[in-house]
Amino acid sequence: MFEGLSERLSGILGGLTRRGKLSDQDVQNALREVRRALLEADVALEVVRSFTDRVRERAVGAEVVKSVTPGQMVVKIVNDALVEMLGAEAETINLNATPPVPILMVGLQGSGKTTTTAKIARRLKERDKKRVLMASLDTRRPAAMEQLAVLGGQVEVDTLPIVTGQSAPQIARRAMEAGRLGGYDVVMLDTAGRVTVDEALMDEAAEVARTVDAHEVLLVADALTGQDAVNTARAFDERMGLTGIVLTRMDGDSRGGAALSMRAVTGKPIKLIGTGEKVDALEEFHPSRVANRILG
Ligand code: GDP
Repeated sequence: MFEGLSERLSGILGGLTRRGKLSDQDVQNALREVRRALLEADVALEVVRSFTDRVRERAVGAEVVKSVTPGQMVVKIVNDALVEMLGAEAETINLNATPPVPILMVGLQGSGKTTTTAKIARRLKERDKKRVLMASLDTRRPAAMEQLAVLGGQVEVDTLPIVTGQSAPQIARRAMEAGRLGGYDVVMLDTAGRVTVDEALMDEAAEVARTVDAHEVLLVADALTGQDAVNTARAFDERMGLTGIVLTRMDGDSRGGAALSMRAVTGKPIKLIGTGEKVDALEEFHPSRVANRILG
């Protein structure tokens, strides 16, 4: 995670800390390199711009340059600006509603949505001691419904029995009813995915969100798709109001563009990240820890 970017930034900032004294010009030069490194990591241009403006405002000027350890002060300023860019505080799934709490999972096909649904269900069961029911709403792909049932068996979380011939909102209603009758705390609804963002996909997910009055609407997006993931998030958010993002395949993401841009562009928090194929490969997203990881 973030290896490429981390290496670049440590090189640039390490160069600053090794020098005893710094001029404003040194800081400006380093900032120009930081800007280039962020762009190469596929961070959105607008985000890079506001980030470097913020750092420049704080780092260029008498105080930093005159201090005893100017390099370290610049590193601290960069660190703080990164944390702010990532949303400052970690946010988790909100279950603060009358049970069963409906959580809607949306996203493109192949993003890792079904796997992530099972990972979250497992986490809620193990860590939060919640009773969870999962249901697949993918009426066009019976294999997706089967996949969720298999994953349910693996993580030992119940899945709604499959009934053919029902529409997605009908299945969602049936899941909520089963959730109420069965005394479940959470009902996770895995909506259908498609290869690209299209109207039918949006319409269906938005209708389900309204039908169950979804408490969380989580977009699952593939970190490796960089700015496409951010654009997908923006499209879904405009249509149905996301409450958070889960970024998958962070284990293979050495650049970090999606993770670093998501919050600043969409205003929505990354609530969890997928870090592998296994059902326990799911972690919280802590802005300060991420910044530490990037800056070494
Ligand atoms: P869906 O079409 O969006 O439901 O995607 P799936 O849940 O079927 O996942 C597609 C593939 O991505 C599967 O092989 C998953 O094991 C894999 N996958 C999901 N999340 C992650 C992740 O965080 N890291 C890695 N390396 N693979 C993942």
